[in-house]
Amino acid sequence: MEVNESEEEGEEEEENGVSIGQDPTRAKDLYLDTIKRSALDFDFEKVCSVSLMNINIYGCLVCGKYFQGRGRKSYAYAHSIHEDHHVFINLETKAVYVLPDGYLVSDPSLEDIAFVLAPSFSPQAVANLSNPAHVLKPSYDLTNNPYLPGFIGLNNIKRHDHMNVIIHALVHVPPIRDHLLLSNFKGKESELLKRFAGLAKKLWNPRLFKSQVSPHEFLQEVGRASAGKFRLEQQGDPIEFAGWLLNHLHKDMGGTKKRNSSIIFSSFQGELRMETQKVVVKADDSLKRRPQFDIGGETKSATSPFLFLSLDLPPPPLFQDSVEKNIIPQVSLASVMDKYDGKSTQEHLGLLRRYKCLRLPKYLILHYKRFTKNNFVEEKNPTIVNYPLRGVDFREYLEAPAGHPPTIYDLLVNIVHDSVAGTTRDIQSTAWKVHLRAGGGGGDAEKWFQIQDLIVEEIRKEMIFLGETVLQVNSRLCA
Ligand SMILES: [Zn+2]
Repeated sequence: MEVNESEEEGEEEEENGVSIGQDPTRAKDLYLDTIKRSALDFDFEKVCSVSLMNINIYGCLVCGKYFQGRGRKSYAYAHSIHEDHHVFINLETKAVYVLPDGYLVSDPSLEDIAFVLAPSFSPQAVANLSNPAHVLKPSYDLTNNPYLPGFIGLNNIKRHDHMNVIIHALVHVPPIRDHLLLSNFKGKESELLKRFAGLAKKLWNPRLFKSQVSPHEFLQEVGRASAGKFRLEQQGDPIEFAGWLLNHLHKDMGGTKKRNSSIIFSSFQGELRMETQKVVVKADDSLKRRPQFDIGGETKSATSPFLFLSLDLPPPPLFQDSVEKNIIPQVSLASVMDKYDGKSTQEHLGLLRRYKCLRLPKYLILHYKRFTKNNFVEEKNPTIVNYPLRGVDFREYLEAPAGHPPTIYDLLVNIVHDSVAGTTRDIQSTAWKVHLRAGGGGGDAEKWFQIQDLIVEEIRKEMIFLGETVLQVNSRLCA
């Protein structure tokens, strides 16, 4: 073999890169041995590393770089000669070629590479993800490190931890996850939807080479589709991003204003009623009580759909001395949910409002408004919210028509903002983290993972509510 190899090198130089007189089977095996799986992930946008074009792109299976074409004047061809890298996969068709010779290789040993490039899932495999046993069955990467598909790190290329947590949140909502994993988008669907589905498949891939994924390809498209509003170079607000992404995916899935017109609406959309009155200041109110709804007064009532319920945190106490500063204010979930009990009122610009839900979705997204703009500086409310992980009943906030599904929910996703010190969000020492539930039921079949970009750790249930929660997804408990 060694003699052959050196002969071949000599020939290559003489023949300008075209090896001749080889037994093709042996040459093929020789080349396949040069493939470096550890250099492959196919996470980056599929553009030629030289021409930056995105048509007819091949991935070099030796170094992982992308090149356009495979003809004599192509960049892949030139790479095969200059770098002595000979095996290339077409990123669209998954066909593997040896260059510069230009022949097609079809070998069962390449199947794992095609699967990392474009994972696919059977309905049975997807159903198994909801099975409690999934939590107990780790997969193994190339270096034999165990990982739990779905609960893996997302690379933070620049400053997009706020988008990483939303990606994780959405691909862990079972109907969204299943829809994306079973999709086979070809052609007319939006690039955003295709790339989001591709990313979901990678995150749930049980046969990854490395147990981490880069969201680069998806986020490049987010940047384009949002006209630069959400860029991977710039940290931003995960809630704003979540709102944008949900609405875009809804439209791209063919959703309309109608109920249940996409998997996004059928999972997250609820309905609430808002009643409004003008504030009437009573002359005899010496107690300066909070204004109340006037029973006989003129009331406007409007219903509107929602994807999130926003919750206000009480302002933290002012004028803290050095001892008080160490006391972190705490509130209960029930006290902040009072906003939706149909009785509590909110005063805004001379109007008094009260809210009640008319329909709760299967997956209830709660947004805790922790950041307030104050003199153009964003300040963070450090109040900790106490919430149970399981069995929260939201019936009190619902004007339930007969036949409304059960109103008991378990926590599924929790997004927290972590800062070492200070109240502003722009300092470097802040990070967005997501807590994800694996399995359920509260016993051994339930685990919680904390993911901050590439750092994935199992976390004790008791630790979860100690974070400064900003967004939660609660899943309805099926009776
Ligand atoms: Zn290469």
